[in-house]
Amino acid sequence: MTAQQLERIAELRALNYPYSFIGRALGLPSNTVKSVCRRKGFPASGKRKTKAEKHSVQLCRNCHRILPDTDCRIRQFCSDECRIEWWKNNRRVIEKHR
Ligand SMILES: [Zn+2]
Repeated sequence: MTAQQLERIAELRALNYPYSFIGRALGLPSNTVKSVCRRKGFPASGKRKTKAEKHSVQLCRNCHRILPDTDCRIRQFCSDECRIEWWKNNRRVIEKHR
């Protein structure tokens, strides 16, 4: 578990996303997310998210930060740095499988 993952868990949890959602978003088992939240005392606040809300949230594909809701354009990364880093990492994965 990286510091960045912990930060994202805290962030998503504070916005009241369920463990399973956070796990899926970060590629972690929901039980891991749950135990991290318990251990670190990350609180959930407010109401449960609706299905539509969970569906519409956009996360950066690289750092999993929540992307701001901008017009209708679908964004996949929070910044050019993340886009470049993601492609760099992914290219390496793709090459490994050749
Ligand atoms: Zn990012």
